Amino acid sequence: MIPARLTDCHRDTWQQQMVDAVTDPAELLDMLGLDPALLTPALAAAARFRLRVPRSFVRRMRRGDPHDPLLRQVLPVGEELRDADGYSADPLGEAAANPVPGLLRKYHGRALLVTTGACAVQCRYCFRREFPYDAQVSDGGRWHEALAAIAADRSIEEVILSGGDPLSLSNARLGALTDSLAPIPHVRRLRVHTRTPVVLPARVDEGFGHWLARLPWPVVVVVHANHAREIDDEVTDSLARVRAAGAHLLNQSVLLAGVNDSVDALASLSGALFDAGALPYYLHLLDRVRGASHFDVPEARARELVRGLAARLPGYLVPRLVREEAGAPGKTLLPLSTGSQTCKL
Ligand SMILES: *Cc1c(COP(=O)(O)O)cnc(C)c1O
Ligand code: SF4
Repeated sequence: MIPARLTDCHRDTWQQQMVDAVTDPAELLDMLGLDPALLTPALAAAARFRLRVPRSFVRRMRRGDPHDPLLRQVLPVGEELRDADGYSADPLGEAAANPVPGLLRKYHGRALLVTTGACAVQCRYCFRREFPYDAQVSDGGRWHEALAAIAADRSIEEVILSGGDPLSLSNARLGALTDSLAPIPHVRRLRVHTRTPVVLPARVDEGFGHWLARLPWPVVVVVHANHAREIDDEVTDSLARVRAAGAHLLNQSVLLAGVNDSVDALASLSGALFDAGALPYYLHLLDRVRGASHFDVPEARARELVRGLAARLPGYLVPRLVREEAGAPGKTLLPLSTGSQTCKL
């Protein structure tokens, strides 16, 4: 049975829920009734990259199941400490695409603002697990420099708020940021990349809906769910509020061994997303960040999975299989055929 404390806290404000996230591996194991033997490796791995998971997300995990696909995304494990060939601290070479602190100019016509280093959750496979946020976050006075760079470059048509997770910021901070962007005439679209509506749905509060609804540009919100069970009623409500504010809603997932590496899991995810008003957009191959090699799904297997999906679902429910490459101007789209050709977006 679910302990009372798990069911009570969802009435707290999102700020309280953020502070109240589970950060102690012993508590997480205890809440889920898992073997205490998992604690020693969890503590060792958490010393490198700490555990952090909102209680709302823990409520969706199955008690007593060490292989739960939601748990696997957040529980530190001993495999993270294993060194693997080809895995590094900055797999995408972001340090090189970073002309001004807090601004990434990797994609043609689009500028990515690193609004904050904070996330409501710490995903074990995160490609920014070792990103030097303290130096790069366009926080406080630093936003000024990034905004000036956007204003000075008329090729930038779209601003992507990223992070960390931009929804870690208050509605007032988000409002101040978009007020500064509004006078820049060449910006035509705003995009928000966020996992928060999925891991901490209470974040999509009334004030956030107002902020979204009043933005002067067409807005795309790209959320991030990897498994159908992440999308419960509370998440469905939060996504409905995003849509009610007029934003287009897309989802990106990461293909993760032991989480969603089957045609059944991916098909259920697409169906659950559509039921909640979001279209599947990208399915990312894992970025080869140190500590995440146990999530790897070989490329040939990834293509086979997406071919299986395409055989089963309408085209709009089949995400694009992509890989990020250091220095490339966009993602690399992987064709589903067995040939070795790839085409650049
Ligand atoms: C891919 C990606 C982008 C750019 O997205 P497009 O949809 O290809 O324009 C921006 N931010 C993040 C985090 C991405 O992964
Ligand atoms: S929400 Fe995104 S940026 Fe934050 S830890 Fe997870 S994968 Fe990384």
